[in-house]
Order: sequence, then structure tokens, then C-alpha cells
Amino acid sequence: MHAIGIDIGGTKIAGALVDELGNILRADRQPTTASNPQLIEDAVVAMVERLSEGTDVTAVGVAAAGFIDASQSIVYYAPNINWRNEPFREKLERRLGKHIIIENDANAAGWAEFRFGAGRLVSDMVILTIGTGVGGAIVSGDKLFRGGFGAAAELGHMRVVPDGLPCGCGARGCIEQYGSGRALLRTANELADAGGIGIGLAEVRARVGTLSGLDVSDLIQAGDPGALLALRTLGHWLGQASASLGAVLDPQLFVIGGGVAQAGDLLLDPIRAAYLDVLPARGFHPEPEFRIAELVNDAGVVGAADLARIYAESI
Ligand SMILES: [Zn+2]
Repeated sequence: MHAIGIDIGGTKIAGALVDELGNILRADRQPTTASNPQLIEDAVVAMVERLSEGTDVTAVGVAAAGFIDASQSIVYYAPNINWRNEPFREKLERRLGKHIIIENDANAAGWAEFRFGAGRLVSDMVILTIGTGVGGAIVSGDKLFRGGFGAAAELGHMRVVPDGLPCGCGARGCIEQYGSGRALLRTANELADAGGIGIGLAEVRARVGTLSGLDVSDLIQAGDPGALLALRTLGHWLGQASASLGAVLDPQLFVIGGGVAQAGDLLLDPIRAAYLDVLPARGFHPEPEFRIAELVNDAGVVGAADLARIYAESI
């Protein structure tokens, strides 16, 4: 049974017709004026109609950033779109006459990684996605962990430093302020300011004006000691956060995704080391694996489609 997945991002809507093995059979995308709810609804309806032409697809999963209720119907709040308590599922069901589910985009992408990527051999997995911020998802007992209100797994806002750096969410000391791509840049700039081991970073910064993620990534690949220290610092924080998550969730696997994960073992090694360093009762129970995510671009679309297919098959 095929299903359609739609991923509503800040600047574009991506969609695909997906088979039960996670293969994309037909794909579509279009730019969007993300702030206008009616235009988005119309664009999603038109995209589903295009993707389902000539097929008998009845299941559609829609992924979007935001808080979505536990029944996957109402978007309580979306950061990029003017949705407040938006009954998006009901609206789409009425217009399309198909089975619809709405899913948080990080959950949808995490689910795809669990089903078709690095997590396909485990039952319990945590994925941390390291982009500009920190996102993620939890799979527990072969199911997405959504919490009682549907807003679980906001992993970026787990507090790692009491009264630490202020975060965009209004709290302080969230892992997003220490383990994100933005944090990596902040550390790189601090090292460049300090001189010494940061001399390579300082030289590049003096040449280009402002350090970008790509500059730091190039220096990491070139083996620059300062850039590697910035990455190890990032990995240290992510390892600490993983240990807390591990103590609560006992996953067999942590998956690290997002742009910064392209550093591979250079990032995984300090994460593992910090994890083991703070792990309670180390040596007395099995230790989880740490792996880099395998799905990159279309994870949200594929995960949303798969969740919709499973839902449609269950009713
Ligand atoms: Zn926060």
C-alpha cells in the first residue's frame, strides 16, 4: 500500500508518493508563502491531488514544525505559520476525502530513520538532529514517543546547564545552546578570539570576515586543532545530554543527524566518551550504539507517508 507524505517547511512544501519500503515513487515540491494558512492549505491539497493522480492512495501524512496534539489532528502552535489551534486534519479530510495524520516534522524524520535508516534493527532509538538548533525524536518499543499532550521529544530544550545561556524558547541552559551548529560557531569564535589553539580559526576569520559553518567544517576536515576542539566541545555536551536521555529511555541506539553530523566519527567519538564518562552504573548493563543518520533529504516526507500508511492500515 502506497501513501503520500507532505513536509511543510519554512520556505517550501515537499511531497512524495512513497511505497511500503520507503522508496519515493513520485516527488513534488513548491515554494510557499509560509505565513499564510489558507495558501498553505490550498497548496497541500493541490499537491496531494497531483501526487495521487492515477493511484488509489488513501493515506496522507503531513509533517510540519510545531506542537501537534496527541491525536495528530490539531496544530496547537507552529513557529513558521500562523496556526493557533488549527484543526488542519479535519480541514484536509473534508477537502481530500482521505485518511490524514498530522505529525511534527522532527518526529516524522526520526520515524523514517527508525524504519528505513540507521534504526531499522532496533526497537528503541533516540535521534538528535544537529542543525542550526537541536531537534530530535524518540522511538520507544517500536512506537514514536509523543507524550500525553503530543509535545514530547523537544530534545533541544532539555536543560543541561542550570541558569546557563538563554535560549530562544525562553528558558536557560538548553542543550540547543551548547550542542547546535550555532553553538559550534560560538565556540569556534571564542577560540579564535583567544588565540593559541584557535590561531587557524582566527586566520580564516580575518580573511573571510565572519566564520561560517562551512568554514569551520572545512577546518575540521583539514585537521585544524582549534576547529577539532570546537567539535569535541560540542560532542562533549551532546554526550552529556545523551547520558541523561539514556538513563530515562534506555535506547539501544542513538542516531546523530543534521549538517554537523557530516563530521562522522570526529563527532561521534567525543559523544561516546562523554556518554560513558557520566553513565550511571557503567559496566553493569549493555551500552547503546552511536551512529550517524543515513537518510538525509527526504526523511520528513518518507516518515510522514509511512506513519499515515500504518494509521490507515490500523483502522
Ligand atoms: Zn530552549
